[in-house]
Order: sequence, then structure tokens, then C-alpha cells
Amino acid sequence: MKGVRLIPVAKLAVGDGPLVARMITPEQFQALLPLACAWAEEQERIILRDGLPLTAPQIADAKRIGITHPERVRLRVVDEIPLPDNPMLRRAAEMTGLISPLTAGLTLRYGIFIQSDSWGERRLVVHELAHVAQYERFGGFRSFLEQYLHECITIGYPEAPLEQEAKQIENELCR
Ligand SMILES: [Zn+2]
Repeated sequence: MKGVRLIPVAKLAVGDGPLVARMITPEQFQALLPLACAWAEEQERIILRDGLPLTAPQIADAKRIGITHPERVRLRVVDEIPLPDNPMLRRAAEMTGLISPLTAGLTLRYGIFIQSDSWGERRLVVHELAHVAQYERFGGFRSFLEQYLHECITIGYPEAPLEQEAKQIENELCR
């Protein structure tokens, strides 16, 4: 995922890893993970149903990033990235800073939400495509989300290594 970084208030939405780690115990994390996976899968279904396929230049970027199945990716423009209905999951998404009103993009395997103000930004799509490649590398929702969310809770978003990797790819492709 990617937040809007140029607006100072965005700092408020960025999770403090160690603080969040104190608020979400390992037991709670294990309880949250299947809920997060189910929510992510449901969102992907919606995006794959309603979203747009990648354009030719976006497919070229997807291939540069190493995505195996660029043809499966869909982009869905939304006024705001949706939050989960489940109160526990919703609170975790807000606490980690993963989803806020300022979130510009969110990737659920092959489904990518793009916030309408950021529609058309190559850099954002490249960033989210880097996350698609990570989902493929990890082999699916459960294994990717377990690692990614664990990093966001213990290290913090945006310092999480998987987040840093996506930023690095973004910087390499969009100089
Ligand atoms: Zn990201």
C-alpha cells in the first residue's frame, strides 16, 4: 500500500511499529490474520469483477518488476480505500496506518485500489505492482499477509522491509 507522503498530516496516519506491537499481542495477531486474509480475498474479488486491466505501458512496467501474470491485474478507482467492517480488523488497519482517508493505493494480490486523486500516477501503480510481485513470490494471501502485516506491526509501516522494497522498485523505475 502507499500513503500520500507530501501532506504533513499524513504523518498522523503512519503507524508507530513498537507502539502497535504493544497493542496487538501475538495471540491477537494470529486471530486477526485469517480475518485479514478473508477481507483481502473479498476485496480482490470485487476489484477483479469491476476493475480495469493494465494498459500496455503498465503491462511493460509489470514485466520489468517481474510479475508472472500481469494479465490478471485489475485497477479499481475509489473515492476512499474501504476499511474492513469487522471492528477488530478495522482498528488494526487504522492503528498500523495501513488504511486511512489519505491512503492512495492498496494491493490485494491481483486487485489494486487507487484513490481517485491519484488516478493516472505511474509511480503509484508501479509501487502497487511491486506488492503484486511480492504476493506472487510468497505464493498467496496468507503467506504474504502474514509477513507483511507482521512487519508493519513489529517494525512499523512504512519502515517494513517489504514496504521499503516496493519503494526501491518505484524509485528505480520512476526516476
Ligand atoms: Zn506499499
